[in-house]
Amino acid sequence: MTISIVIPCYNEEQAIPSFYSEVTKITAQIDADFELVFIDDGSKDQTLSAIKALPAKPRCQIQYKSFSRNFGKEAALLAGLEAASGDYVCIMDVDLQDPPELLLSMYDTLCEGEYDCVAARSVSRHGYSPLRKCCTKFYYALINRISKTEIVTGARDFRMMTRPMVDAILQLKEYNRFCKGIFSWVGFKTKWLTFENKERVHGSTKWNFFSLSAYAIESIVSFSTLPLMLPFLFSFLLLAAALVLCIVLIVKAISGAGVMGLAILCALFLVGGIITGCLAILNLYFAKAYLEIKKRPIYIVKETNITESAAHESKNEIR
Ligand code: UDP
Ligand code: MG
Repeated sequence: MTISIVIPCYNEEQAIPSFYSEVTKITAQIDADFELVFIDDGSKDQTLSAIKALPAKPRCQIQYKSFSRNFGKEAALLAGLEAASGDYVCIMDVDLQDPPELLLSMYDTLCEGEYDCVAARSVSRHGYSPLRKCCTKFYYALINRISKTEIVTGARDFRMMTRPMVDAILQLKEYNRFCKGIFSWVGFKTKWLTFENKERVHGSTKWNFFSLSAYAIESIVSFSTLPLMLPFLFSFLLLAAALVLCIVLIVKAISGAGVMGLAILCALFLVGGIITGCLAILNLYFAKAYLEIKKRPIYIVKETNITESAAHESKNEIR
């Protein structure tokens, strides 16, 4: 049994030694070989040197990939998952905000065989600014309303997954990646562990208001085409307003009042409604094309008793 731990790192030279010492205290309690896959996401400090300087420990192999520049955490996670060869694969932040002791229960739960993934969600947000807490709350409410893919509140990337689930994740080759959505999209049975959020041991968060907002928009665009349907609503409102104005105009015209201004407004609403309606129809097709471009698998098989060769033979017989 080999367990891979994927660790994205960006400017984390101080955090790496403490992460390694805390995590290896826990991994030593698990009867498995470990593979720590550090991804240096184009750090500007001595992160890579800190990884290379980590002392060897029994049953724990250190691997790394260092990016040519900062590509972002999502890219680092993909690189890590691609490099991981373990039977179970775990994702952890290097700042010790993901409690290493949870690895023990994650491992035990996966070994029982009922679950394919054990993921962690924080139930508090200590250390985050009030603005970030407020925006986060709004974000989860919004995305879960407009997307069919559930994003669990407080879910972290911190999780341990079985090999079939990791292989399924790697089938999603989309360029704009939002891992929390991808983990949920591929399905598989997930058990959630809750914990109190902790502050970072070293350094500060890599996110600011603008990068978080961009990340939130990215996730919405990746997992919902509902915003593309907004022109339908605008078109309906404009055409309804045009209809009401038209009725008022007719009534006024019959009573002999001047209706020039009203007629111009009515025409504006009508033309606006027709144009937005056409845009809405275009968006319908665009939404379909957008999903096609992503080339996500149409389904993911978790278990079957049909072997590849048997399926192939029966296809040939039909021909
Ligand atoms: N990270 C990364 N690339 C980035 C930003 C962050 O690899 O461009 C890593 C970072 O080193 C850390 C993890 O992603 O291990 C989470 O980052 P951070 O702690 O800043 O996020 P937060 O916990 O505040 O959400
Ligand atoms: Mg953090």
